[in-house]
Amino acid sequence: MKHNRRQWLGALGAGAAAGAFPQNVAAQGEAPKAGPLDISDYQPKSMLRIKETKVARSRYPVIDVHSHLSWTRKSQNGVSLAGERRFVWPAERVLQTMDRKNIRAMVNLTGGYDSGLEEAIAKFDKAHPGRFYTFTEPSYSRLLEPNYPQLQADAIAQAHRAGARGLKILKTLGLYLRENITSGKLVAIDDRRFDPMWDACGQLNLPVAIHIADPVAFFTPTDRFNERFEELNRHPDWSFHGLDFPSLAALLEARNRVFARHPKTQFIGLHVGHMAEDLDNVSEALDRYPNMSVDIAARIGELGRQPRRARQFFDRYQDRILFGTDAVPEGHETPQQIFGDELYEIYYRFLETDDEYFDYAPAPIPPQGRWRIYGLRLPDEILRKVYNANAAKVLRIDI
Ligand SMILES: [Zn+2]
Repeated sequence: MKHNRRQWLGALGAGAAAGAFPQNVAAQGEAPKAGPLDISDYQPKSMLRIKETKVARSRYPVIDVHSHLSWTRKSQNGVSLAGERRFVWPAERVLQTMDRKNIRAMVNLTGGYDSGLEEAIAKFDKAHPGRFYTFTEPSYSRLLEPNYPQLQADAIAQAHRAGARGLKILKTLGLYLRENITSGKLVAIDDRRFDPMWDACGQLNLPVAIHIADPVAFFTPTDRFNERFEELNRHPDWSFHGLDFPSLAALLEARNRVFARHPKTQFIGLHVGHMAEDLDNVSEALDRYPNMSVDIAARIGELGRQPRRARQFFDRYQDRILFGTDAVPEGHETPQQIFGDELYEIYYRFLETDDEYFDYAPAPIPPQGRWRIYGLRLPDEILRKVYNANAAKVLRIDI
């Protein structure tokens, strides 16, 4: 009986081989060999047969605290100079997606300042009350004026009067802005000239959404060991390795000194406190600075590849994690964040289901790195806080 079974298996093996490979290869007794493959052409398909849950609408209404519905195309390295161009997205189109995806409100972080800010507020916040909240941005072009600290604080008060709901700090501060705007020494994040600006935000209850660093891999050489090699190869200017860039640790320390010096100002550390790869680091900062919260924008790729650690993080900081996507319009250079149904469905799937090994972005993998993610299946109570309650508290709005 045993002997027969072995014969049968042998026959099956031979048959399978003959079916799988061209006859001549099987006859030579060699497996077919592929030639060298360019890594950018490699698109392996997972052979896992696993559950795929479509989450078309979020379980609770969403406040997306991180989007770019209007923005300024900066002429040089993120520093606003003459010649900059403003872009504003049509609100009606945005609202269609919002309604389909159960998005109650969107925060437009890059509202700009002066007339650009007023235009964004008119087209979004005022035209559609309760659906849009626009933040202002500092104007660094005035940095060289001797009374810049006061001017910038006054500009915050003016933006507040115009209807701005917070301040957005781009990584321009710390990584691009220099003493002579585009030349000279880099201006530190905790430079004293900004103290009146941080204080003004605290006094006016304007939260500060701050983004001062990028993924850890952007601070290491773009070589074969870099986990975001393909991303950096597509965007060489995203690398902060070398030249006179501060280290990631130095940037975070400077940011922390600002948090410590302005305890009455609320700070949202964007992109999981710019350190989603090291949740111990983010936890330490959250423990030390009660005026800090975080969003998850453009970092579910990081959170979702460490689902057990991420779940602990959500349990512990469930009152301080805000939903955000970093949504940008079509045609933008970051395809993993194009605003639309698919983007939100991935975020909802990540937060609500326990699906395994799925893509973290609509763009062809790998937009950030070659890995997939696992859902957190957050309990209802935490979901509700992350989807809207925490953001409502920071923005001082009713949901
Ligand atoms: Zn952003």
